[in-house]
Amino acid sequence: MRVAVVGGGFGGVYAIKLLQRWSAATITLFEPNERFVFTPLLHEVAVGALHPNAVTHVYTDIFRQQITHVKERVTHIDVYKKRLTVGKNNYSFDYIIISPGAKAHLPKQPVHKLKTIPDALEIKQTIENNVRDAIAKNDPTLLTCVLVGAGPTGVELAAELVDFYKQQITNQQSTLTPKITLLEGYPTILYDTDTRVQNIALAKLKKKGVIVHTSAFVENITNAGVRAKVHDTQKTFTAACIIWTAGVQPHDVASTVEKKEGHFRVDETLQLHDVPYAFAIGDAALLPTPVPKLAQVAVQQGAHAAKNILRVHKGKPGKPFVFNDKGFLVSLGHGYAAGVVKGLCIKGMFAWILWRTVYLSKFSGVRSKLRIAKEYTKNLFTW
Ligand SMILES: Cc1cc2nc3c(=O)[nH]c(=O)nc-3n(C[C@H](O)[C@H](O)[C@H](O)COP(=O)(O)OP(=O)(O)OC[C@H]3O[C@@H](n4cnc5c(N)ncnc54)[C@H](O)[C@@H]3O)c2cc1C
Repeated sequence: MRVAVVGGGFGGVYAIKLLQRWSAATITLFEPNERFVFTPLLHEVAVGALHPNAVTHVYTDIFRQQITHVKERVTHIDVYKKRLTVGKNNYSFDYIIISPGAKAHLPKQPVHKLKTIPDALEIKQTIENNVRDAIAKNDPTLLTCVLVGAGPTGVELAAELVDFYKQQITNQQSTLTPKITLLEGYPTILYDTDTRVQNIALAKLKKKGVIVHTSAFVENITNAGVRAKVHDTQKTFTAACIIWTAGVQPHDVASTVEKKEGHFRVDETLQLHDVPYAFAIGDAALLPTPVPKLAQVAVQQGAHAAKNILRVHKGKPGKPFVFNDKGFLVSLGHGYAAGVVKGLCIKGMFAWILWRTVYLSKFSGVRSKLRIAKEYTKNLFTW
């Protein structure tokens, strides 16, 4: 049984792990990157709190048996002929799991984004340069930052940025005051989450000095900053650094099946309609009842697709996917997080430690766990 997995993110990796556990399938991973990226911790790389190596893992460390890793982007999938294309080469498969994830849905103007390690390092470089120049020129406008999008990424990054600027300014004995603004189109921050967490996060951000505007629709971005309509009033927010965290769209992978706004449409079993050997999961999949675009969804769908492949292989029909919501945690700067776990709302240092432990437990390989635990411990004392 030859299984092709397109994309080595959360969904793809967990599908492979479980296929290896339960079968002797011959697996080929198609993924241009050398290493798996743990995106929920990227904001810590952007502010220099974690080294990129602490949030990435070579694929050979993750899987218990060897797989073939084709380090290139899939350009076309012929689902009906069971063949995919990478550059000039074609590969055949018996089953396919399509999990190329999503990319940032950006405006035309140049802004920073946070989806990859290079994105995080670019933000780090910009804010470090801005701090250096602001202090040299005694110019607080260089310490202005506007984040567009108050989902988990925008909220976590805004809180981390406050800590970053505070630490830099204290270290350099400056009296300049940074200004961080968070803009959100919805009437609340963390729109899809529990109201209790929204309120805790909003109060914490305000206490840290972040200026939060909800119902704020960005209309234009210029050298002067971000122009937005906030509750029917036009406002311009000057910014030396603009970070866009609002919205994602699936990666383009051409295919013989019809897609909806780039998403592969699947039924409840995660199978492409009428194609029992082809599955789509994670951020690139669209179910009849949509599920959130979260790592925990992609992980569960990866495991479920693996299970269903084995069922189909034995001549049984696939089972419907049911999302098991394990809760939600959002970090709100150094030493503080908030979230809901098993219906219980938690916040503070305990939630922050839990948040980090959850992530730590997801890292495969003892070496990776030890490396990131070491960085976490170091940060406890240096931040
Ligand atoms: C900054 C940030 C913070 C986040 N924080 C959280 C959080 O705290 N909690 C949470 O649950 N979720 C979080 N998410 C969302 C979570 O990361 C995604 O929902 C999850 O990664 C989706 O998994 P996936 O497997 O669909 O895609 P991904 O994990 O994005 O993986 C897709 C992979 O496919 C590869 N690929 C793309 N195109 C091709 C191609 N043509 N051929 C081959 N390979 C391809 C990519 O290189 C990538 O490695 C965050 C996302 C970001 C960006």
